[in-house]
Amino acid sequence: MADEKELRYEPAEIEPKWQERWAADASLYAAEPVNCGKPKYYVLEMLPYPSGQLHMGHVRNYSIGDALARSKWMQGYNVLHPMGWDAFGLPAENAALKNNTPPREWTLSNIAAMKRQMLRLGLGYDWATEVTTCLPEYYRWNQWFFLRMYERGLAYRKKSKVNWCRECATVLANEQVVNGCCWRHEDVIVEQRDLVQWFFRITQYAEELLEGLDKLEGWPEKVRTMQRNWIGRSEGTEVDFSLDEDRGQKIRVFTTRVDTIFGATSVQLAPEHPLTVELCAKSAELKKKVDALLEEQKKAREAGDVGAIEKHGVATGYFAVNPYNDEKVPIWVANYILMDYGTGAIMSVPAHDERDFEFATKYGLEVRRVIAPLTPSEDAEVLPFISEEGRLVNSDEYDGMNCEDAQKKLQAVAAAEKFGEAKTTYRLKDWGVSRQRYWGTPIPMLYCEKMCEGDGLVPVPDAELPVLLPPQIEITQQGGSPLSRVAEFVNAKCPKCGGPARRETDTMDTFVDSSWYFYRYTDAKNSKKPFEPAVAQYWFPIDQYIGGVEHAILHLIYSRYWTKVMRDLGLIKNDEPATRLFTQGMVIKDGAKMSKSKGNVVSPDDMVARYGADATRMYSLFAAPPDRDLDWQEDGVAGVSRFLGRVWRLVTKYAKDARGAKGERGDVAGVELKLLRKLHQTIAKITQDFEGRWHFNTCIAAIMELVNEIQGADAQLAAGEVRPVVMRELLSSLVLLLAPFAPFLSAELWEELGGEGAVLRQSWPKSDAQLAAEDEIEIPVSVNGKLVTVLKVAAGSDAKAIEAAALGDEKVKARVEGKTIAKVIVVPGRAVNIVAK
Ligand SMILES: [Zn+2]
Ligand SMILES: [Zn+2]
Repeated sequence: MADEKELRYEPAEIEPKWQERWAADASLYAAEPVNCGKPKYYVLEMLPYPSGQLHMGHVRNYSIGDALARSKWMQGYNVLHPMGWDAFGLPAENAALKNNTPPREWTLSNIAAMKRQMLRLGLGYDWATEVTTCLPEYYRWNQWFFLRMYERGLAYRKKSKVNWCRECATVLANEQVVNGCCWRHEDVIVEQRDLVQWFFRITQYAEELLEGLDKLEGWPEKVRTMQRNWIGRSEGTEVDFSLDEDRGQKIRVFTTRVDTIFGATSVQLAPEHPLTVELCAKSAELKKKVDALLEEQKKAREAGDVGAIEKHGVATGYFAVNPYNDEKVPIWVANYILMDYGTGAIMSVPAHDERDFEFATKYGLEVRRVIAPLTPSEDAEVLPFISEEGRLVNSDEYDGMNCEDAQKKLQAVAAAEKFGEAKTTYRLKDWGVSRQRYWGTPIPMLYCEKMCEGDGLVPVPDAELPVLLPPQIEITQQGGSPLSRVAEFVNAKCPKCGGPARRETDTMDTFVDSSWYFYRYTDAKNSKKPFEPAVAQYWFPIDQYIGGVEHAILHLIYSRYWTKVMRDLGLIKNDEPATRLFTQGMVIKDGAKMSKSKGNVVSPDDMVARYGADATRMYSLFAAPPDRDLDWQEDGVAGVSRFLGRVWRLVTKYAKDARGAKGERGDVAGVELKLLRKLHQTIAKITQDFEGRWHFNTCIAAIMELVNEIQGADAQLAAGEVRPVVMRELLSSLVLLLAPFAPFLSAELWEELGGEGAVLRQSWPKSDAQLAAEDEIEIPVSVNGKLVTVLKVAAGSDAKAIEAAALGDEKVKARVEGKTIAKVIVVPGRAVNIVAK
């Protein structure tokens, strides 16, 4: 049709026009003051690393958050929807090495490029609150927090075994080691090195971090489970065995099953246990064997799987004495016992532990049953017998006790006789935050040469913050911290004695930056404090946080820790940063993660240039439920773009009628009722979905159905069977429903319809339940259990009427012809079943 061709949807014209208008209105997406009287809603997407290019995963993440923010604005909330940049990190240094661009310049130009992309996508961020973590106005507060933690003993230095990535040329936190490899270098095996490092005492909050998970009902269960496992709480008992040759020397073991201690037939030490080292000093032969075990352990650790190590051990020839019965058991050293887990020593109970059984069988150690089943069975006869329940046997005076009581009793005896105690251990270790890199927050500590304070460590006074990163330095990846080669940085004056001092040259892990950035958004310009507590208190906790599940452990555990520390500093009152967390699925292509090496990367810029920002965003919400992976199909984007074209043509075609409409619609019937019913059903569905289900794909499908229904009535519309006042309701509601998903087109069509003010300032449409109610319902009818037909009956029909309608149906009549109807079962509103013989 000729006029259809003239009416072409041109996102390339519509979108830049609105982008410009929105950019000119700073108040459009701005959070209102805390006393504005509206309920608050803080919606946040995880801030990106400024690589220079948004990828489709970003587009999806931000489209979800933006749709939610827009719906909340329209529902009358005071919305905080900020964006920032996780701007420190190694890629900036690598880029500097490669192209000789200073990290700061590289980072800031990447930020500018990505911000342009975000604006082009029409994402509604409050840029007045933008946070860039590599700028001194932000990282000075990292330093300030570091000093507060140092004062409280939450930041400390110690020599320890650390994870070292040779590609990153720096230390990694435990959380950054994935399957034994670097989280940034999937094929680089992480080595173990001994270094003096700064740590944050996250373990002090281990119990609270664990307990808090129970209350985070708005978080995905999988994230909570991952955190629980990472924290890894286990309750047990520490018991001192003594060395037979020198009864004063104790070997402390940790066990979760002290009730099995009479079945302990050896004590096993880690290769690095102090006693092992001591015994090795007396025997070159033992030392040689232990060194081999240590080497195996190191390899297994580097491969990330000590659990799967082939178990080896050596007998030391020495004996340990069980404090409960004075029994002597041999002391072994084993390659699977880790010095940094528990006490680095265990008691081995082969009869009731898989691993111990395997080891004992291999080396011919005694296997002695000490737990009998509560009810005898053949299975229970087989060793190892692994069960939390049972009765003690071969355990002296404890025989006959059940496991739980025995544990309590044995713990009490250990405590009373001072050879042990109840103990809770955690897998969680303190957070190592030192990095031997340049592009990070300098650690605000000094080493006084005169050692004027006990250990020579002197904190930088608050008044001297920030400790600035020197702007331009030579970056290499050799020889430790790049800052250590910058004399002007290193050489300082001791603030205590005025003598010469050396600055700490390690920088902080970049996960420090992202641990509290979302608080800074609430008061991003504050130069006196990290943020104003009263303002943060208004906005916190975050109502909805959205990001990838890959952050389940790292960022999401660190930021929970930081929140608890800030609470204990008196800065905030909330215990947790976010009430609800949503983890969106990945965007993949042809079944695989998008990556340059696979050549399957889809560029958001290309999609926007070809189909427009609205179609790109809307497709990323339409193609899959937001929590599932999305396989990117360009056909699909083209389809969404065609749909938006249909909406545009529909609205522009009838806009003139609708614009001129006056008055109330009054009663409706016929086609008007049919279309309004569909409209109000759609409003109800989408409104409900925004409350938390977030199946935006089905929301968009519902809008498509609505548009189909209106277009399907084209002949009646053309014949004037729908009054302008109804047309106005249909079209303006349609435009408002589309606003969270396709903001540019909505703005354009809202103006076309003569709407006043920004779409964002309009009230979200309200569903009229009476109009939405169906007046006919469908009821399946079966004969002898086989579906024959689906009846349409008036909603609310009684059983008698439904039975009559079913028996009067032609298809039913044909099916029962020549038979006797024995029974008609009617479930009103649901189904009819006819039994005929
Ligand atoms: Zn690495
Ligand atoms: Zn000094």
